[in-house]
Order: sequence, then structure tokens, then C-alpha cells
Amino acid sequence: MRASEISGTLVFHSEFDDYATWRDALHAQLPRLDIRHASEIGDPAEVRYALAWKPPAGFFDRMVNLRLIINLGAGVDSLVGRQDLPAGIPITRITDPNMARMMAGYVLFATLRYARDIPSFEQAQKKGVWAYRHPRSPEDIRVAVLGLGELGAYAAQELRRQGLTVLGWSRSPRRIEGIQCRSGMDTLDTVLSQADIVVLMLPLTPQTRGLMSRARLQRLPRGAALINVARGALVDQAAMTELLGSGHLGGATLDVFEREPLPADDPLWRMENVLITPHLASVAIPSSAAKQIAENIARVDQGQAPLNVIDPARGY
Ligand code: NDP
Repeated sequence: MRASEISGTLVFHSEFDDYATWRDALHAQLPRLDIRHASEIGDPAEVRYALAWKPPAGFFDRMVNLRLIINLGAGVDSLVGRQDLPAGIPITRITDPNMARMMAGYVLFATLRYARDIPSFEQAQKKGVWAYRHPRSPEDIRVAVLGLGELGAYAAQELRRQGLTVLGWSRSPRRIEGIQCRSGMDTLDTVLSQADIVVLMLPLTPQTRGLMSRARLQRLPRGAALINVARGALVDQAAMTELLGSGHLGGATLDVFEREPLPADDPLWRMENVLITPHLASVAIPSSAAKQIAENIARVDQGQAPLNVIDPARGY
């Protein structure tokens, strides 16, 4: 059956993404699909497909005919390990080159800001001081990218294109041209000790939660910068804050936090060497992602396995 002939009910849930835009993008691919917002779900037993970002607890209860869960994003940590997931239903993530490009844009911006010493010029400008600082050669600046998946590998290559020395780290061995790749826990301390800038691009799993402990943060050379675009809980936030205060960490660009929104009284807000953005380094883009969602719905409809399935046991 062609995608244009597929019927059935899809339920949408996200507090961050615009329903009408997603509905229209999906309708363009799947005109016969019955798309409902979670607030007007009707009988959950009618739902065959769920497109959801951080659905509330119990969301999947009574969806007895569910055949596919599409995570409206790349990180699936808020989906795996839930009690209400129907057994055996595949979970897919969005794997969208436009999403990877948007993320790489953020990572490039944040990394180059440090590589070109922009924070020191921002401070000097506040004081009206012409503070010349000779630019460093990009190859003398070592950037470690932890996590070389869809988003991490793309960002690492963009950084490499800027002439920076890029070190990559992942769970299993990876080969990426021009990037010094290492894998496994026993190499992490070495990678950290060689990084002037470290970019976190790991999924949040039982293995990676708290990975950037105080001891690991202290492995970084004094004055190193941390960029976290992955998940706040990868880092011991209290230790990070202290090390930013002591100058062991020279600066941090943080898009994600242990608690979001970051509470108004959190000291990070007021630190001069910290740049905060409210979890938007990259987002799923309806116009480019709708096609792969439609393709997966068509595959499931035809009894085939969907693409970009995550492994709940692995956590990503
Ligand atoms: P992928 O699942 O494609 O890749 C994950 C990478 O992390 C892989 O290289 C994997 O290794 C590595 N990894 C996983 N576990 C470990 C471990 N225990 N030790 C070492 N390496 C590990 O993820 P994406 O690149 O698509 O996305 C990364 C994360 O970015 C997402 O999980 C999400 O949390 C976050 N994100 C944040 C957004 C934002 O706006 N701030 C937007 C989108 C995503 P291997 O190659 O061996 O599998």
C-alpha cells in the first residue's frame, strides 16, 4: 500500500512543538491518516501510531492497538524505562540531517566562541577596554566530542572543517576521517586530559548518567571549556558550578540542565563565564522529518520493521 492510502489514527503529544505544523506536514505525506492531538484522543484503543515528546505518565495506557511509537526528537531517555510502554512495540527516533545541521550550527558557534576568545572580549567591552589578544591557530585547539552518533559525528566533522584538532569518543570504535577517535571507558580520562574544549553529545542512559563527575571534570586541563548540548544529568551540576567558580573550568555553554527550566535561584544564571540557552540547540523540523515518519508508518502498515529503531535495553 502506498503512503497516500494509509489510514488509521495517530496521536500527537508535545508541549514544545506546534501541533498544527506537524499535522499539516504529516497530512501532506499521509492524507488519509486520522491525526489527533492528545487532548482530543477519544478512544485510546483506536490509536495505532503515537508521535510524542515527553508524554505524561500513563499516556500509553489502554492503547491496546498501538503499533509504533515515534519519539519526536533524537534523545529517547524520557521514553525508555517507563512503566506504561506496551511490550514489543518498536520505538523510533527522528534521524534528520536538518536536525543534525542545526545542532552542528550551535556546537560550531559555541566552540568557535571559545576558540576565538570571544568571552574575554565580551568582558573587556563591558569595561570599555581594547584588549588585544592574538588569535590562536585552530589546529592548536583540541576539541573533544563525546558521543559520535547522528548528531555528534556530524558536529565533529564540521569542527574539523574549521581546522580544529578534533578528538572523538564513543562506546564502540568509530572511524571518522580527520578525527582522532577513541572508544570505551578506559580511554575517557585520556581524552578529557587532552581537551581544551569538551562537547557532550551523548545520550542519557544508565551508563552515561553522571559520567562527568567531579573527578572527570577535574581531568580536564585547567581553564578548559565545557559545552553541554546533550542532557543535564550527564554532569554533576553542583561540581561543575564549583569548578566554574574556582576557574578550573574556564567557561561553560549549557543548553541542558539537571532540572529544566533551570530554577531562577540557580547560581549558574549569574556566572560571568557561563552562557545559558533554554534547551533548543536543535529541534525536529516537521517539513524534513515528516517524510521519514510517513515511511516508517508505511513500513509498519506493511508488516515490515521500521527504520531508526532504538534499543530500549541499550537506552538509545
Ligand atoms: P545517537 O544515539 O545517534 O549516538 C549516541 C552516541 O553516543 C554514539 O556514538 C554512542 O556510541 C555514544 N554512546 C552512547 N553510550 C555511550 C557510552 N556509555 N560510552 C561512550 N559512548 C556512548 O545520538 P545523537 O547523536 O542523535 O544525539 C545525542 C544526544 O543529543 C541525544 O541522545 C539527546 O540527548 C541530545 N539532543 C539534544 C538536543 C538539544 O536540543 N539540546 C536535540 C537533540 C538531541 P556508539 O557509536 O558506540 O553507539
